[in-house]
Amino acid sequence: MPQILESDIKYLPGVGPKRAELLNKELGISTFRDLLYTFPFRYIDRSRFYSVREIDSSSAYIQLRGRITRIDKTGKGRSVRLVARFTDGTGSIDLVFFKGLKWMEEKLQVGPEYIVFGKPSVFGQSWNLVHPEVDPATEEKLSQVGVMMGVYSSTEKLHNAGITNKFFEKMMATLLDRVLGTLEETLPAYILEQKHLVPLTFALQHIHFPASVQDLGRAQRRLKFEELFYLQLSLLRQKNIRMRADSGVVFRRIGDYFNKTYEALPFPLTGAQKRVLKEIRGDVASGKQMNRLLQGDVGSGKTLVAVLAAMMALDNGYQACVMAPTEVLANQHYHSIQKFLAPSGARIALLTGNTRQKERDEIHRGLLDGTLQIIVGTHALIKDTVQFKSLALAVIDEQHRFGVEQRSRLWSKSAVAPHVLVMTATPIPRTLAMTLYGDLDVSVLDELPPGRKPVETVHWTENRRGDLYNFMRQQIALGRQIFVVYPLIKESEKMDYKNLEEGYMHITEAFPAPQYVTAVVHGQQKAENKAYDMELFAKGRAHILVATSVIEVGVDVPNASVMVIESAERFGLSQLHQLRGRVGRGAEKSYCILMTGYKLSTESRQRIELMCATSDGFELAEADLRMRGPGDFEGTRQSGLAFDLHIADLAKDSPALVEARELGERILAADPLLEHVENRLLVEQLRTLRLDDSFKDYSKIS
Ligand code: ADP
Ligand code: MG
Repeated sequence: MPQILESDIKYLPGVGPKRAELLNKELGISTFRDLLYTFPFRYIDRSRFYSVREIDSSSAYIQLRGRITRIDKTGKGRSVRLVARFTDGTGSIDLVFFKGLKWMEEKLQVGPEYIVFGKPSVFGQSWNLVHPEVDPATEEKLSQVGVMMGVYSSTEKLHNAGITNKFFEKMMATLLDRVLGTLEETLPAYILEQKHLVPLTFALQHIHFPASVQDLGRAQRRLKFEELFYLQLSLLRQKNIRMRADSGVVFRRIGDYFNKTYEALPFPLTGAQKRVLKEIRGDVASGKQMNRLLQGDVGSGKTLVAVLAAMMALDNGYQACVMAPTEVLANQHYHSIQKFLAPSGARIALLTGNTRQKERDEIHRGLLDGTLQIIVGTHALIKDTVQFKSLALAVIDEQHRFGVEQRSRLWSKSAVAPHVLVMTATPIPRTLAMTLYGDLDVSVLDELPPGRKPVETVHWTENRRGDLYNFMRQQIALGRQIFVVYPLIKESEKMDYKNLEEGYMHITEAFPAPQYVTAVVHGQQKAENKAYDMELFAKGRAHILVATSVIEVGVDVPNASVMVIESAERFGLSQLHQLRGRVGRGAEKSYCILMTGYKLSTESRQRIELMCATSDGFELAEADLRMRGPGDFEGTRQSGLAFDLHIADLAKDSPALVEARELGERILAADPLLEHVENRLLVEQLRTLRLDDSFKDYSKIS
């Protein structure tokens, strides 16, 4: 890459140190390269003039040509504004200015023809353009009609400092003028040819200044593909390198532990469970370390898969551990795993923050001398004092709640690097999984055990609270149990607890003791109280469990058939789906009632409607990704999405992503270390983009 791209942005003519500082602070632009790769986030069609008559509520930015008929200054003090009546012969619209009045007053005149450009909005009964761009309709201006215009993201500070979109355009023009001739291609010629991509210089020119819609499309396709390609290439290469470096423990045999457990199962495995077990078996017999992500909707039977994988370890003389993100979940795992283990006689223990010191010492000893074969626990498992004799399989449930370093600490627990199976019930769309877990293998449990009935989901507003309580009474009379969940966005937010506490009060008023028993579970309780109330509900002695979203992960109470979610609009789709998955586990027909206020944003309404319409976790996850974008996607931050995409969009560009990945796979299959001459550019690019750096930490954990 030519040196010039690394030049400080302040040296670009017209920028200077002050604006450079602002650009850096506000948009992270500090070099020529940064600016060059700051793309418009949308484009405005300046290829035609609209008429005032055409304006309706769907109008985005539009361009008008006409004359000002009168100019008024209204208001007083801070609310003074300038209103220019503008007409193009088909109708009139007001151009409104609140700022820079003096300047506008001088600039605007009644009579001459102008080109105005802005976004219509309604004020009172009529249409307005607030702070439109206004230019005299000169020959030069009129000749620019016919192009798409890029819009760059800006901030108020930038705007106030004169770094407007116009300024951006000027900077870009200067920059392209300087650097375009010096740029070297960043993709090998054979890729451009195979994929029919335009050259880099063409792409950069037309992404900033498209000559036509078609050229913009070509530019976008090239740049998106390139971005996704290098991302995938880097992930795939990390995986290659790891596969070479970390040899894995080989589980040669399937023996009594596995067979006895398997034969005693009260039900046949689902097809998906069988398939995934085969995939795991393939990994652990391969001599390479397994790094597998197991995705499965709630209730798809992940625990059993983990148990049988653990049995493979035991049959070969090794230990296994299962880590859960919360105390409640660890407990539950322990109990359900223990049931599966009874026939084989495998020795298991539970280690959490609550385990008494004496018992803890015993467990530590057992893990070190190998008398304990399986340990289930929380973060307590990765405390320094825990050492294993021969840990060879680590199962991690609900990966996104474990931090990066925490997982990597597992490495130091045993003489051998254990196989890793990460289980998640948060369905991750394929495109995102490919990127987040590009160097993990992914298995999907896409089949629920037979006999599950879909949960009937309804949306009720506050005016039906009476109906809700009646319905709850009916269900309790039928012998069912009910979850009532309150949002808990951040553990520390007092407001959230207020919700829960008030809710609990109302519930206990509407469902008075001793006729009704209500348990309560939340994050700020003492662990023993939590365990007590949880047990009350799990054992069927409480009718209602009032909880925050702690119960989101994993609690299994088959007799619970109603899930009431309060302030449902405050939950994301994935979370709602997780919560709903807590019911519908037994034989009874189950219900999920989403309670909200009357007023909902369009987006919340969409979310709630989608929940009522589908029970497919992957469909919901895709929708979640579409609506919220990958940045907000549950768990992405913690999962190490350590890069910014400039132009590609994981939600929208999945075909390009798949294509890019396939190309990456093909290239690495033929040239695993990228040593061929024709691939030298690829290595250089990975280095320039520092993609290798950003994934360093990530590859360590997996
Ligand atoms: P997940 O962790 O994937 O949400 P679980 O492992 O908790 O699901 O399984 C949910 C329930 O389904 C458990 O009660 C489990 O015993 C049961 N189960 C698992 N596999 C099967 C199967 N193949 N057939 C019937 N029930 C199953
Ligand atoms: Mg589970």
